[in-house]
Amino acid sequence: MARKDPAPGLPIGGYCRISEADLLEIRRAVEAGVISTEEGAEMERKGVEKQREDVTQIAEPFGRPVKIYEDNSLSAFKRNVRRPDFDRMVRDLAAGKLAGIVGYDIDRIFRQPRDLERVIDHYETCGLNLIFKTGSGQNYDLTTGDGRFSARLFVSIANKSSEDASRRIKREVQRKAQKGEYHGGTHPFGWRKDDRSKLDHEAAALVRKIVEAHLAGDKIATCMEYLAEAGAVNPNTGKPFTWAGTKTLIYRARSFGIRIYLGEPQTTADGGYVMGDWEPIFTTPEGGPDLDKYEQLVALKAGRSSAGPQEKSSVKYLLSRIVRCGRCGYPMVGKTVWVRGKKSQSFAYNCNKAHPDACGKMGASGPRVDDLIKKLVWAQAVRASKERLLVPEPGVWAREGELKDVEEQIAELKALWAAKKVRAASYVVTLDELEAQRMDLKADRAVHTATPPIRAITPELLKSGWEGLSVERQRIIVRAILKAVIIHPARDGKRGGAFDPARVEPVFA
Ligand SMILES: [Zn+2]
Repeated sequence: MARKDPAPGLPIGGYCRISEADLLEIRRAVEAGVISTEEGAEMERKGVEKQREDVTQIAEPFGRPVKIYEDNSLSAFKRNVRRPDFDRMVRDLAAGKLAGIVGYDIDRIFRQPRDLERVIDHYETCGLNLIFKTGSGQNYDLTTGDGRFSARLFVSIANKSSEDASRRIKREVQRKAQKGEYHGGTHPFGWRKDDRSKLDHEAAALVRKIVEAHLAGDKIATCMEYLAEAGAVNPNTGKPFTWAGTKTLIYRARSFGIRIYLGEPQTTADGGYVMGDWEPIFTTPEGGPDLDKYEQLVALKAGRSSAGPQEKSSVKYLLSRIVRCGRCGYPMVGKTVWVRGKKSQSFAYNCNKAHPDACGKMGASGPRVDDLIKKLVWAQAVRASKERLLVPEPGVWAREGELKDVEEQIAELKALWAAKKVRAASYVVTLDELEAQRMDLKADRAVHTATPPIRAITPELLKSGWEGLSVERQRIIVRAILKAVIIHPARDGKRGGAFDPARVEPVFA
């Protein structure tokens, strides 16, 4: 009996998904912790997108519109993942809404023999000359016995070999995981391309920098900026690190020499970590892997995920990295002060010697600097929020003239000093006074043009006060008002001695 052609103008279904082999490769990289699940999903999406062109080309000779169906399976990340678009396409075909199906290759369309049987049923019984074509050039005409035969054969071979490949890779990965060998994937950031057991010192230093920065309270987005500033490229994507990629990099156990399998550190029978055969990025002074630091990271990650999106427990000191060294300009980090070999209760902001360009020669009492900045910032925040309660839309800042006046006085005073027309004692005292006024005015102006985090100060927060806020929240408020806090060298050039508030210069945002 002669079959009729489907109605003219009826579209062809074009089905897209990436190959099983590509999917395996991506999964392997995710399982090895080389890329994040999000990055893997992104790679898959890109692969699927590319296929759309191929599929459209395969359908072209039929002169019908193409309706694209595409599935991304990695986001679900399971072996027997459902394919919602495939199901939709089969339903549309059964409902007579499609003139047939085209795909890049037959094993892209049908993952399992039973997928094929669902479609074959329809081709056999509908009585129409439905189209079926792939880019392989093989005859899989599902309306004929011969075509169905080769289709069945091919799908079952493809299914079998992809399962074998998957099993083989799994076994191999597991064996190496237990032996502590790294198992392929793109070369990991921080190690050499030609020998991934040896550090690439430049990249490793960058990993240290962002992990330390993150432990010190910098958000992942901030760490991502550090990577971008340094021109770092994610070896998996060939592009700058994304937020997800940065996060993966920061929390990566590999940096500490720990072997990962299926996203989990491998442990030995006695509860220790299975260590890899590569050089760790983080080492103790004795040269071994710094596992304490890894556990700090794990604790930080755990604390954060239960505490929600805000980084509550991450930052220990209010002004870490907000404070900058007045000599070299590099951010200063809060550190516990050690007195005669013991940890004291106090802390200091220090210029970070570990950074090659930092001078490492500046330090300031942490509690004293914090106290000054807290008073300045909180008073302004409270005032601004009260004003806002009364006047919802603050107009133009009314004290611009006052600020200009003070700035002119400072300039005049400095000119007098330069011309040696003023005595040292009165210069210093007057300058201090004028600068205090200027600081106050600038802070007032900063909160007047309030940025969103400041607007988030609610009456409840005001009632519980500054101390009722997490350090991260305090930092958000500080950053909304101040761009940085510069610590200048002591006037007499000596370190230590009494703390001099004049050394602290807030830079308003
Ligand atoms: Zn410095």
